Amino acid sequence: MTATRSDAALLLPDATARRLLPLARATSGETDATASPLDGSHLADVPQSTLDDVDAAFASARAAQPAWAELGASERGRRLLAFHDLLLAAQAELADVIVAESGKARKDAVEEVFHLAMTARYYGQYAAGFLRPQRRRGVFLGLTRIDVHHHPKGVVSVISPWNYPLTMAMADGLAALAAGNAVVAKPDAQTVLTALAGLELLRRAGVPDDVWQVVTGPGGEIGTALVERGDHVCFTGSTATGRKVGVGAAERLVASSLELGGKNPMVVCADADLDAAVDGALRGCFSNAGQLCASFERLYVARAVYADFRDRFVAAVAALELRPGLDWTGEVGTLTSAAQLDKVQAHVEDARAKGATVLVGGHHRPDLAPWSFEPTVLEGVSEDMECFRDETFGPVVSLYPFDTEEEALALANDSTYGLNAAVWSRDHARARALASRIRCGTVNVNEAIAASFGSLSAPMGGMGQSGLGRRQGPEGLLRFTQVQAVATQRGMGLGAPTGASREKFAEVMTGALKVMRALRL
Ligand code: NAD
Repeated sequence: MTATRSDAALLLPDATARRLLPLARATSGETDATASPLDGSHLADVPQSTLDDVDAAFASARAAQPAWAELGASERGRRLLAFHDLLLAAQAELADVIVAESGKARKDAVEEVFHLAMTARYYGQYAAGFLRPQRRRGVFLGLTRIDVHHHPKGVVSVISPWNYPLTMAMADGLAALAAGNAVVAKPDAQTVLTALAGLELLRRAGVPDDVWQVVTGPGGEIGTALVERGDHVCFTGSTATGRKVGVGAAERLVASSLELGGKNPMVVCADADLDAAVDGALRGCFSNAGQLCASFERLYVARAVYADFRDRFVAAVAALELRPGLDWTGEVGTLTSAAQLDKVQAHVEDARAKGATVLVGGHHRPDLAPWSFEPTVLEGVSEDMECFRDETFGPVVSLYPFDTEEEALALANDSTYGLNAAVWSRDHARARALASRIRCGTVNVNEAIAASFGSLSAPMGGMGQSGLGRRQGPEGLLRFTQVQAVATQRGMGLGAPTGASREKFAEVMTGALKVMRALRL
């Protein structure tokens, strides 16, 4: 693979941090220093929130939320559309901040900006329709009218990870805003500047200061405080933390949506277009250096085309441009932290030691960036190896041959996770049938991730240990609402009239139910 160190200036201008950091609600006087994964250089001294700051954030968000809800869905939508435009206009600076904080390739950073803009457009255009009161059928036709309303829950807590620091920190919250809620958000400690750069634009788009606030600090303390205060807790991160968050919310009888880890399978059928499948596998395995919840770590390939696919894939991986830096030249950036590197190295070393073959990659590249690791393809991975079942969350994928599609299905479903999958075949109908039997919240046919994730009308989320609830689509907005049914009775009441025979009433009811059944009412 081509691997060079980028010559681009690696640091953000100090003025960027000075402008953004005051937007956080953080008065402890303490700071947490962050460094860029690109070169380990100092990025920012991030002010830390106290629990009093969190209380103040929730109190002011609660006070501001009713007026935000009163604005109406159409006006809120207009402000989301203004945010869309500001995101596109500011994409160069946003990409600089994202790359500096996360170390991802610039093309991956820009994809985040696009995904967030598309989310703003989707809910900006459609939220009013999703929230419109619906008429439903009452007990008896003509006698009972049912109106279903969706009210905002209040203040939504949003807790997000570092891997997609812009869109994971904001996309869910945009749906909450569109539904009339306020938001208190806690980004990961490594990527606070990105979350604040988004917040700056949101305020410029007309979202009042108190309606979206960002607090900072360690997950165990400030994240927990958000779980203890929100009217809905929206969490994206690891399965281990998500379980704690879900329990914490459940204890308060507050709903949570949990977007968690994955060990995602991709199936290449014998009739697949192999060029397209190889291309998709590159995107699906190595976007964001594999630090993507939906990325593929298990590739199942029909034995008839296995050797052909493997050779083409390995050649394509070897040709990837591994070049961490701010400019556009790199296809793969660096891992974001020492902890990520440790996990990735441990999985590769464990597999190597137990007999797997490293077909390409497999090396730490400190000459490029402190935590850079080569895109890696493994063969001969067996059940006793850590990377067989555990999420690596890095640029490491294992290849496995299969003989029948039933076997491929069984292998794909052999995981406690169930987030994302892909099927590659020229026979779309057969591929869709296979896809619907894979136990994952999203399955892409002839694309890796973007077909489902980029289709904002498609619900996205995990089965099994990959999470609870769905983001995107109407589901992604309605989860932030309380559903209310208002029933209006016209004319006669629904019980036996006072003084009437109860037995006679039961007979009338029985007749009425039979008629309704016969008329399919
Ligand atoms: P993490 O669970 O360690 O941290 C995520 C967030 O939770 C951070 O903001 C952290 O500060 C906070 N946090 C930590 N402990 C907490 C606690 N006790 N209470 C409340 N908040 C707490 O996850 P991570 O390592 O930062 O992220 C990587 C993981 O996220 C991977 O497993 C990945 O698959 C998953 N992920 C999932 C999705 C998805 O949509 N399903 C998207 C991105 C990442």
